[in-house]
Amino acid sequence: MRAIGVFGGAFAPFHNGHLRVAIEARERLDLTQVRLIPTAHAAHRPDSRVSPQRRLEWLRAAVRREKALVPDDREILRDGVSYTVDTLEELRRDFPRAALVLLMGADAFEHFHTWNRWQQIVELAHIAVIARPGSALQLSAETREVLEGRRTDSVAALHEQTAGLWLPLEFPPLDISATRIRRLLAQQRSVRGLVPDAILNTMTAADIAALTQDNDATKH
Ligand code: ATP
Repeated sequence: MRAIGVFGGAFAPFHNGHLRVAIEARERLDLTQVRLIPTAHAAHRPDSRVSPQRRLEWLRAAVRREKALVPDDREILRDGVSYTVDTLEELRRDFPRAALVLLMGADAFEHFHTWNRWQQIVELAHIAVIARPGSALQLSAETREVLEGRRTDSVAALHEQTAGLWLPLEFPPLDISATRIRRLLAQQRSVRGLVPDAILNTMTAADIAALTQDNDATKH
Protein backbone atom coordinates (compact mmCIF):
# COMPACT_ATOMS: atom_id res chain seq x y z
CA MET A 1 0.00 0.00 0.00
CA ARG A 2 1.36 3.45 -0.75
CA ALA A 3 2.07 5.78 2.15
CA ILE A 4 1.90 9.59 2.22
CA GLY A 5 3.72 11.78 4.74
CA VAL A 6 1.96 14.73 6.36
CA PHE A 7 4.14 17.43 7.91
CA GLY A 8 2.62 20.60 9.32
CA GLY A 9 4.01 23.59 11.14
CA ALA A 10 4.13 27.34 11.42
CA PHE A 11 7.19 27.28 9.15
CA ALA A 12 8.08 30.82 10.25
CA PRO A 13 10.37 30.38 8.50
CA PHE A 14 10.68 26.95 6.87
CA HIS A 15 14.27 25.87 7.61
CA ASN A 16 16.77 23.14 6.82
CA GLY A 17 15.69 21.15 9.90
CA HIS A 18 12.20 20.91 8.39
CA LEU A 19 13.65 20.08 4.99
CA ARG A 20 15.72 17.19 6.35
CA VAL A 21 12.72 15.81 8.28
CA ALA A 22 10.71 15.69 5.06
CA ILE A 23 13.51 14.19 2.96
CA GLU A 24 14.70 11.60 5.50
CA ALA A 25 11.14 10.53 6.30
CA ARG A 26 10.34 10.13 2.62
CA GLU A 27 13.38 8.00 1.96
CA ARG A 28 13.42 5.93 5.15
CA LEU A 29 9.67 5.31 5.34
CA ASP A 30 9.30 4.78 1.60
CA LEU A 31 6.67 7.52 1.26
CA THR A 32 5.39 8.37 -2.22
CA GLN A 33 5.16 12.02 -1.20
CA VAL A 34 5.36 14.28 1.84
CA ARG A 35 2.74 17.01 2.04
CA LEU A 36 4.06 20.15 3.74
CA ILE A 37 1.22 22.09 5.33
CA PRO A 38 1.69 25.56 6.81
CA THR A 39 -0.76 26.37 9.58
CA ALA A 40 -3.09 29.32 9.12
CA HIS A 41 -3.80 29.80 12.84
CA ALA A 42 -2.13 27.42 15.29
CA ALA A 43 -4.14 26.47 18.36
CA HIS A 44 -1.34 26.78 20.92
CA ARG A 45 0.69 29.79 19.85
CA PRO A 46 0.14 33.33 18.65
CA ASP A 47 -0.17 33.78 14.88
CA SER A 48 3.07 34.52 13.08
CA ARG A 49 3.41 38.12 11.89
CA VAL A 50 4.37 36.59 8.55
CA SER A 51 1.19 35.94 6.56
CA PRO A 52 0.27 32.33 5.78
CA GLN A 53 0.55 33.20 2.07
CA ARG A 54 4.12 34.40 2.49
CA ARG A 55 5.08 31.31 4.52
CA LEU A 56 3.61 29.18 1.75
CA GLU A 57 5.63 31.07 -0.87
CA TRP A 58 8.81 30.33 1.09
CA LEU A 59 7.91 26.68 1.27
CA ARG A 60 7.26 26.54 -2.48
CA ALA A 61 10.59 28.20 -3.21
CA ALA A 62 12.45 25.80 -0.91
CA VAL A 63 11.10 22.56 -2.40
CA ARG A 64 10.68 23.58 -6.05
CA ARG A 65 13.23 20.96 -7.17
CA GLU A 66 11.95 18.21 -4.83
CA LYS A 67 9.14 16.55 -6.73
CA ALA A 68 8.03 14.34 -3.82
CA LEU A 69 7.73 17.26 -1.37
CA VAL A 70 4.35 18.84 -2.00
CA PRO A 71 3.35 22.19 -0.47
CA ASP A 72 -0.29 21.92 0.57
CA ASP A 73 -2.35 25.05 1.20
CA ARG A 74 -5.47 23.37 2.65
CA GLU A 75 -5.15 24.87 6.14
CA ILE A 76 -4.70 28.34 4.68
CA LEU A 77 -7.75 27.92 2.45
CA ARG A 78 -9.81 26.50 5.30
CA ASP A 79 -8.96 29.37 7.64
CA GLY A 80 -10.07 29.26 11.28
CA VAL A 81 -7.90 27.40 13.78
CA SER A 82 -5.75 24.82 11.97
CA TYR A 83 -6.52 21.54 13.66
CA THR A 84 -4.48 18.59 12.43
CA VAL A 85 -7.43 16.25 12.91
CA ASP A 86 -9.49 18.26 10.37
CA THR A 87 -6.60 18.18 7.93
CA LEU A 88 -6.24 14.42 8.29
CA GLU A 89 -9.96 13.90 7.76
CA GLU A 90 -9.70 15.82 4.50
CA LEU A 91 -6.61 13.88 3.42
CA ARG A 92 -8.29 10.61 4.29
CA ARG A 93 -11.11 11.58 1.89
CA ASP A 94 -8.61 12.57 -0.81
CA PHE A 95 -6.51 9.40 -0.41
CA PRO A 96 -8.91 6.72 0.87
CA ARG A 97 -6.60 3.78 0.19
CA ALA A 98 -3.21 5.20 1.21
CA ALA A 99 -1.50 4.97 4.57
CA LEU A 100 -1.06 8.45 6.06
CA VAL A 101 2.00 9.11 8.20
CA LEU A 102 1.93 12.22 10.36
CA LEU A 103 5.48 13.48 10.95
CA MET A 104 6.27 15.39 14.11
CA GLY A 105 9.28 16.36 16.18
CA ALA A 106 9.69 14.94 19.69
CA ASP A 107 8.89 18.40 21.15
CA ALA A 108 5.49 18.38 19.45
CA PHE A 109 4.85 14.76 20.41
CA GLU A 110 5.35 15.57 24.10
CA HIS A 111 2.20 17.71 23.97
CA PHE A 112 0.26 15.50 21.61
CA HIS A 113 -2.44 14.74 24.21
CA THR A 114 -3.41 18.44 24.25
CA TRP A 115 -4.26 18.49 20.53
CA ASN A 116 -7.86 18.76 19.44
CA ARG A 117 -9.51 15.29 19.18
CA TRP A 118 -6.06 13.72 19.43
CA GLN A 119 -7.34 10.18 19.95
CA GLN A 120 -8.97 10.40 16.54
CA ILE A 121 -5.69 11.36 14.92
CA VAL A 122 -4.37 7.88 15.70
CA GLU A 123 -7.34 6.38 13.87
CA LEU A 124 -6.69 8.54 10.80
CA ALA A 125 -2.90 8.22 10.47
CA HIS A 126 0.27 6.62 11.70
CA ILE A 127 2.66 8.88 13.59
CA ALA A 128 6.42 9.06 13.03
CA VAL A 129 8.27 10.90 15.79
CA ILE A 130 11.59 12.52 14.96
CA ALA A 131 14.23 13.03 17.66
CA ARG A 132 15.13 16.66 18.18
CA PRO A 133 18.07 18.16 20.07
CA GLY A 134 16.88 19.24 23.49
CA SER A 135 13.77 17.02 23.48
CA ALA A 136 13.90 13.44 24.68
CA LEU A 137 11.37 11.08 23.18
CA GLN A 138 8.79 11.34 25.91
CA LEU A 139 5.17 10.27 25.93
CA SER A 140 2.78 11.83 28.38
CA ALA A 141 0.83 9.36 30.54
CA GLU A 142 -2.33 10.05 28.49
CA THR A 143 -0.55 9.47 25.18
CA ARG A 144 1.14 6.33 26.47
CA GLU A 145 -2.21 4.85 27.42
CA VAL A 146 -3.76 5.43 24.00
CA LEU A 147 -0.65 4.39 22.05
CA GLU A 148 -0.05 1.28 24.14
CA GLY A 149 0.63 -1.68 21.85
CA ARG A 150 0.77 0.51 18.74
CA ARG A 151 4.51 1.09 18.57
CA THR A 152 6.40 -0.43 15.67
CA ASP A 153 9.92 -0.27 14.30
CA SER A 154 8.89 -1.83 11.02
CA VAL A 155 8.51 0.34 7.95
CA ALA A 156 6.69 -2.54 6.24
CA ALA A 157 4.04 -2.47 8.99
CA LEU A 158 3.25 1.16 8.13
CA HIS A 159 2.45 0.03 4.59
CA GLU A 160 0.17 -2.80 5.68
CA GLN A 161 -2.54 -0.69 7.31
CA THR A 162 -3.73 2.85 6.63
CA ALA A 163 -3.36 4.19 10.20
CA GLY A 164 -3.00 3.34 13.87
CA LEU A 165 0.74 2.79 14.54
CA TRP A 166 3.54 4.99 15.79
CA LEU A 167 7.22 4.75 15.09
CA PRO A 168 10.30 6.60 16.36
CA LEU A 169 12.32 7.78 13.37
CA GLU A 170 16.04 8.26 13.98
CA PHE A 171 18.48 10.10 11.75
CA PRO A 172 21.29 12.56 12.49
CA PRO A 173 19.40 15.48 14.05
CA LEU A 174 19.87 19.08 12.98
CA ASP A 175 19.90 21.54 15.83
CA ILE A 176 17.90 24.19 13.99
CA SER A 177 14.76 25.93 15.18
CA ALA A 178 12.74 28.79 13.76
CA THR A 179 13.06 30.52 17.14
CA ARG A 180 16.85 30.57 16.85
CA ILE A 181 16.67 31.79 13.27
CA ARG A 182 14.38 34.65 14.29
CA ARG A 183 16.71 35.52 17.16
CA LEU A 184 19.73 35.63 14.84
CA LEU A 185 17.82 37.83 12.40
CA ALA A 186 16.91 40.18 15.24
CA GLN A 187 20.63 40.47 16.03
CA GLN A 188 21.34 41.16 12.34
CA ARG A 189 23.36 37.96 12.12
CA SER A 190 23.44 35.60 9.16
CA VAL A 191 21.13 32.61 8.93
CA ARG A 192 22.68 31.18 5.76
CA GLY A 193 23.06 27.42 6.08
CA LEU A 194 20.05 27.28 8.41
CA VAL A 195 17.45 28.48 5.93
CA PRO A 196 17.32 27.30 2.29
CA ASP A 197 19.03 29.78 -0.05
CA ALA A 198 15.90 29.95 -2.19
CA ILE A 199 14.10 31.53 0.78
CA LEU A 200 16.95 33.64 2.02
CA ASN A 201 17.61 35.18 -1.37
CA THR A 202 14.08 36.57 -1.54
CA MET A 203 13.68 37.57 2.10
CA THR A 204 12.78 41.26 2.38
CA ALA A 205 13.34 43.74 5.19
CA ALA A 206 9.60 43.55 5.90
CA ASP A 207 9.82 39.74 6.25
CA ILE A 208 12.70 40.07 8.69
CA ALA A 209 10.84 42.70 10.70
CA ALA A 210 7.79 40.42 10.92
CA LEU A 211 9.85 37.40 11.99
CA THR A 212 11.62 39.46 14.63
CA GLN A 213 8.28 40.52 16.07
CA ASP A 214 7.24 36.86 16.37
CA ASN A 215 9.93 36.30 18.97
CA ASP A 216 8.83 39.34 20.97
CA ALA A 217 5.30 37.90 20.99
CA THR A 218 6.31 34.43 22.17
CA LYS A 219 9.00 35.70 24.61
CA HIS A 220 11.47 32.95 23.74
P1 ATP B 1 9.62 27.45 16.63
O1 ATP B 1 11.05 27.56 17.06
O2 ATP B 1 9.01 28.75 16.15
O3 ATP B 1 8.73 26.72 17.60
P2 ATP B 1 10.16 25.14 14.94
O4 ATP B 1 11.55 25.25 14.40
O5 ATP B 1 9.93 24.22 16.09
O6 ATP B 1 9.60 26.59 15.26
P3 ATP B 1 7.65 24.57 13.68
O7 ATP B 1 7.18 25.16 12.40
O8 ATP B 1 7.01 25.00 14.94
O9 ATP B 1 9.24 24.78 13.73
O10 ATP B 1 7.66 22.98 13.63
C1 ATP B 1 6.91 22.17 12.80
C2 ATP B 1 7.30 20.74 13.07
O11 ATP B 1 8.68 20.54 12.75
C3 ATP B 1 7.17 20.28 14.54
O12 ATP B 1 6.67 18.95 14.53
C4 ATP B 1 8.60 20.30 15.03
O13 ATP B 1 8.80 19.38 16.07
C5 ATP B 1 9.35 19.88 13.79
N1 ATP B 1 10.75 20.35 13.73
C6 ATP B 1 11.18 21.62 13.59
N2 ATP B 1 12.52 21.69 13.54
C7 ATP B 1 12.97 20.42 13.66
C8 ATP B 1 14.29 19.82 13.69
N3 ATP B 1 15.38 20.56 13.61
N4 ATP B 1 14.35 18.46 13.83
C9 ATP B 1 13.22 17.71 13.93
N5 ATP B 1 11.96 18.22 13.91
C10 ATP B 1 11.83 19.55 13.78
